[in-house]
Amino acid sequence: MTDHAVLIAGGGPTGLMLAGELALAGVDVAIVERRASQDLMGSRAGGLHSRTIEVLDQRGIADRFLSEGQVAQVAAFAGTPLDISDFPTRHPYGLGLRQNHIERILAGWVGELEVPIYRGRELTGFAQDDTGVDVELSDGQLLRAEYLVGCDGGRSLVRKAAGIEFPGWDPTMSSLIAQVELAEEPEWGIHHDALGRHAFGRVEYEIRDGEIVYADSGPVGVVVTEEHVGATTEPTLHDLSEALIAVWGTDYGVHSPTSISRFTDMARQAAAYREQRVLLAGDAAHVHNPVGGQGLNTGVQDAVNLGWKLAQVVKRISPDTLLDTYHAERHPVAARVLRNTIAQVTLFRQDDRIKPLGDIISELLNMDEPRTRFAAMMSGLDIHYELGEGHPLLGRRMPDLDLVTANGPLRVFTLLSDARPVLLNLGEPGGFDITPWVDRVQMIDAKYVGAWELPVLGAVTAPTAVLIRPDGYVGWVGDLTHPELADALTTWFGPPTAT
Ligand SMILES: Cc1cc2nc3c(=O)[nH]c(=O)nc-3n(C[C@H](O)[C@H](O)[C@H](O)COP(=O)(O)OP(=O)(O)OC[C@H]3O[C@@H](n4cnc5c(N)ncnc54)[C@H](O)[C@@H]3O)c2cc1C
Repeated sequence: MTDHAVLIAGGGPTGLMLAGELALAGVDVAIVERRASQDLMGSRAGGLHSRTIEVLDQRGIADRFLSEGQVAQVAAFAGTPLDISDFPTRHPYGLGLRQNHIERILAGWVGELEVPIYRGRELTGFAQDDTGVDVELSDGQLLRAEYLVGCDGGRSLVRKAAGIEFPGWDPTMSSLIAQVELAEEPEWGIHHDALGRHAFGRVEYEIRDGEIVYADSGPVGVVVTEEHVGATTEPTLHDLSEALIAVWGTDYGVHSPTSISRFTDMARQAAAYREQRVLLAGDAAHVHNPVGGQGLNTGVQDAVNLGWKLAQVVKRISPDTLLDTYHAERHPVAARVLRNTIAQVTLFRQDDRIKPLGDIISELLNMDEPRTRFAAMMSGLDIHYELGEGHPLLGRRMPDLDLVTANGPLRVFTLLSDARPVLLNLGEPGGFDITPWVDRVQMIDAKYVGAWELPVLGAVTAPTAVLIRPDGYVGWVGDLTHPELADALTTWFGPPTAT
């Protein structure tokens, strides 16, 4: 007997999103979270990229975030802004919204879906066998689940205890990030020197006409690069003061910190996202420098890739080999994020031979084609899972088209709000007997009259039918007479039910 089908260690953005996905699929899921409340100490992510907004839109919750944040052109590469306002998406922008708000809104959604959260307790160890995982909590409670997912951040206990390697690059730089009060006026804005990048800005800001406009008073956000790499203790006000003096010759009378934390350019990725009944997602699976604002976004999208697959496996709809596609699809995505953060951090170095390289990259990014490609990468809109040869839509995100159906107009994304797959037939109605999958897959006959346009690729031929997975990626393209349709349905959504 298990207490829950799935236990998630960690209720940060990744764990919350995964819990929501599993709950939508009707899976008994619970979260174990060390923090007593959802409150977040310190500065973390500052917003969402376009693809993450789309993913939330697929579940019908994007407006909760959009109504609290400020839309803006947020994509950039090594400091060069990348405008996506001409991209073929309903959300050709990013969203400025701090992580504490993102987590609060996600936690509200997960609460509506009635996911239990064991709060104020840590997962301290586990043991897995052929049928499940025994999990131990810090208060001595024991829980058994069929699967355990480590969404427990960069220092993941789940990853370490599962014996999963975490290879990568050691840090070459170290920065402190803090929210403080200053007795004296600092030099506002972003500055570069031989040590690296430093910045002062008011914590409170708003975005006016796409520009960040900081408040005139209130607490100050500080980022300062440290002289030395490799500190092993938690940073203190004294460390912050010393780092400021090393750069500015003064600490500006820094006092009353509400948070001080450290980040580096360490880049590491789990060698495997799955070890039998234990899986990893989010920072537990990949860590890198915050440049480009990609960590939270990647974690939330890991969760959306894993959720429906894990749900089908615990509901015995699909064999557990479906879980291997999670690593196969998501490992390359984070590997690319690590690669681009390493490149960006290098371009920020104040080395007189790297500066011209940065200038050349910036010139390139001001040309349309490189701008389009890099903007699609940074916003997550170009993600392509390798699902073989075929129509360009295969393995790519399904656009949120305005369809016409017998029952009136319909947006594609609204079809995904319950995280159920869709066989969308845009050709002649009928022609395929969906009955053996009808308990799992919705079949919709619709018409679409507009152009088919994908980010970067531009116009593509209109498909006759597409099989859309619950994560919004296209798993098959063809017409309903193709015999491979039954294979595709079986691959993604399990064997046909005998009728
Ligand atoms: C300065 C900075 C700026 C950033 N800016 C951006 C940005 O603009 N955009 C972006 O996308 N990302 C950004 N990031 C990265 C982003 O903050 C992380 O990628 C994101 O928080 C990862 O979410 P997660 O849920 O995977 O992990 P976490 O947010 O680390 O959550 C892990 C959770 O697990 C809990 N936990 C840990 N161990 C245990 C345990 N043993 N038992 C129970 N619970 C446990 C923790 O309390 C925590 O709630 C930034 C990060 C930093 C440091």
